[in-house]
Amino acid sequence: MPKTRRSLKEAHFDGLGVSPGIAIGPAHVRESGAIDVPEYPIAKRNVERERQRLKEAVARARAQIGRLAQKAKSLSGAAAEETGLLLDAYLQMLKDSRLIRGTDHRIRDQRINAEAAVQAEMSEIAQAFATLKDAYISARLEDIRGIANRLLLNLSASPVRPFSNAVKGSIAIAGQLTPADTAQIDPERIVGLAAMLGGAESHTAIMARALGLPAVLGVNSLQLGIRTGDPVIVDGTVGRVVVNPTEETLAAYERRHEEYLRETQKLARLRDLPAVTRDGIEATLQANVELPIELEMVQQVGAAGIGLLRSEFLFMNRADSPPEDEQYKALVEIIDGVNGATVTIRTLDIGGEKPAPALLGHLKEGAASALGLRGIRLSLATPELLEAQFRAILRAGAKGHVRILLPMVSTVSEVRRAREILKEAAAKLRRRRIPISDTLPPLGVMIEVPGAALAADALAQSSDFFAIGSNDLTMYTLAIDRGNEHVAHLFDPLHPAVLRLIQFSAEAALRARIPVSICGEMAGDPRYTALLMGLGFRELSMTAMSIPKVKRRIRDMNLGAADRRARLIMDQVDSGRIATLLDDFNALA
Ligand code: PEP
Ligand code: MG
Repeated sequence: MPKTRRSLKEAHFDGLGVSPGIAIGPAHVRESGAIDVPEYPIAKRNVERERQRLKEAVARARAQIGRLAQKAKSLSGAAAEETGLLLDAYLQMLKDSRLIRGTDHRIRDQRINAEAAVQAEMSEIAQAFATLKDAYISARLEDIRGIANRLLLNLSASPVRPFSNAVKGSIAIAGQLTPADTAQIDPERIVGLAAMLGGAESHTAIMARALGLPAVLGVNSLQLGIRTGDPVIVDGTVGRVVVNPTEETLAAYERRHEEYLRETQKLARLRDLPAVTRDGIEATLQANVELPIELEMVQQVGAAGIGLLRSEFLFMNRADSPPEDEQYKALVEIIDGVNGATVTIRTLDIGGEKPAPALLGHLKEGAASALGLRGIRLSLATPELLEAQFRAILRAGAKGHVRILLPMVSTVSEVRRAREILKEAAAKLRRRRIPISDTLPPLGVMIEVPGAALAADALAQSSDFFAIGSNDLTMYTLAIDRGNEHVAHLFDPLHPAVLRLIQFSAEAALRARIPVSICGEMAGDPRYTALLMGLGFRELSMTAMSIPKVKRRIRDMNLGAADRRARLIMDQVDSGRIATLLDDFNALA
């Protein structure tokens, strides 16, 4: 931490504390929309080699878009034609355009690396567009930026890590951090995050918790007050960012940071104790995993397997989709990391706030919005992708216990179709004598769309298990965007409508005698544990870091009393009253 600059006044910015803990360090401010790319000079003798790198990146981009164009042909009439025209324009742009020519000239004349040249050329083009008044023409800038970003992805041997040029121990400050950005952050370099946009249940928040980085999102006017190098404190527990702290403020936060670490160490002692209530009922606490880097934490906290593996990490930050073998290897690594416990692998849940350029390139804007071609819908629209993912899972399943989970299901027919594709994938592998287990892995569904919750009885007949996704279930039931800081205060899983849908789904599963777990963020907050146990849940899956806190709550709890309180809560019609009844009950523990 650099010395506090006495000339600058301490400033406070409040937002949503989305990942607990305190981080202290110099700010690294990222300009909005920019991707961090390495920049370095090129020796004269290496200029041709660098131009060749650009040529290869362009050729790869052409091949990728060519493949998308092939896929687009299978779309229905008008969509095929429109998408085809758009992709042709992209191909043309990659053949001869100011972006490509200008980048090449910059490498040659300024002797800089190809990534830096693409970035510089793109900013010059963006500046020229900024003076245009015509909205349609201005919007074309995004097409050019899309091509430039594709080139940047193709140029980097490994994906460009955001904030990779920040000094070690920095606090990342940005207007917006996408889940894909956050997934790439190196926790050895960045110790905390703050951004102007984002809600507590956004995937960016989930990623920050997964990486154990204290984070505050939805901080109004944050960037106006901070410059790179300013000393900053991020208090992710309370939701506050302090810039240019005085010596006294700094000392107070350092004490709180130590307290937080002591508490974490105390909780770590629960590792090998069972999650059992005072009256002897045991729960299974599993981990939600977003990134392989979390496996260490999963082991450290003694998680009973993985209740939700968000497979999106395999598809993010790349310009193509991962080949089956690559997916297989990544899954085997995760299966090997849980010592024989079950790994619940969710098929791709791209769409909404989690875009993946490789898959969405051929879709029109908005097609994969929160109400669009998201999750299982996108998978069923691109069956070859789903089949490749199933094949990778089936092969990995020969190395341990796996279950398959389908996201964003809303109809029984989606489950049936997915099961057919799974069976076809298994049959193909068997014909090729590739080892898979004798029985197919259980195929379950996420209950996260209100319609799925209301049809839970029917879905339970065609599913092997349920996992309740309270994040999306709350979002869709209350019409509140989970990633939007303006409505974050209204996002309330204690709303009676949400609780009734959760209860109805859990009861449908119990009646059909299929396992049911809950894996939304609610499951990892000890405030809700007694209510969830009272509603009948015995399997809870959460970010690994939350397991000790939830375990402590369960060990302090009498399930008989929790059952009674849950019944009382479910008779209420007002979420304020529900919150009081729950908080009073928790205070007795
Ligand atoms: C959910 O919606 O609750 C869930 C667990 O899925 P995700 O957060 O990945 O959308
Ligand atoms: Mg979800």
